[in-house]
Amino acid sequence: MMHERRRGRDADPFEVARRRMVTEQLIPGGIRDQRILAAMGKVKRHAFVSAGMEEQAYLDRPLPIGQGQTISQPLIVAAMTEAIEPQADDRVLEIGTGSGYQAAVLAEVVKQVFSIERHSGLSIHARKILYRLHYKNISFRIGDGTLGWPEEAPFNAILVTASGPIIPQALRDQLVDGGRLVIPVGEGDVQELLLITRNRDRFEERRLTGCRFVKLVGEHGWREE
Ligand code: SAH
Repeated sequence: MMHERRRGRDADPFEVARRRMVTEQLIPGGIRDQRILAAMGKVKRHAFVSAGMEEQAYLDRPLPIGQGQTISQPLIVAAMTEAIEPQADDRVLEIGTGSGYQAAVLAEVVKQVFSIERHSGLSIHARKILYRLHYKNISFRIGDGTLGWPEEAPFNAILVTASGPIIPQALRDQLVDGGRLVIPVGEGDVQELLLITRNRDRFEERRLTGCRFVKLVGEHGWREE
């Protein structure tokens, strides 16, 4: 009896919607890595969206999270995660904590996540949600992510979730040999998602897709408006 009651309380009303997001958006969208599909099927995206928007959390679209920022659409989160080819032992840096959703997905597939956000309110809110969901392998920092996180560098991979005018040099410098960096570059409607792979002192660059992110604001990003 106790067991039944506990199950009822923990039941997740969005489990079916989340499974459909995986089968109807992510797999048709080309996501192949089973660990990433499993992570996307597990992380409660509805816990990261603004109050009252839970019903929309598993739709194929970005959603507002306050401070004029957005949580990216599920397929883009999965595609960026797949692009960095995450390994179980990796230490990964994320720029733009936002809601904390992308950090949670990363935390499911790598050993340690470091996440920087320039808006303290967003960072604090994300920490609360991730704590409540029992994530223990995410470190947070409030500051300018265009400078990276030198004290914790180097990283196996870096994932930038806001679009800047250039690829900040600090982020290249903070990659291990063989490290991967995924970053949107450009403004407004004209943005490209780039994948940079470090090979000693060479940086191979590949264009993944067109995209639309909020602005990367900082010393090596756009100026504050
Ligand atoms: N990864 C987030 C997406 C948030 S949108 C999620 O899963 O919800 C991008 C975020 O980048 C915004 O919260 C914005 O405030 C932040 N940002 C923009 N420029 C930044 C910078 N230079 N350093 C750190 N965060 C930045």
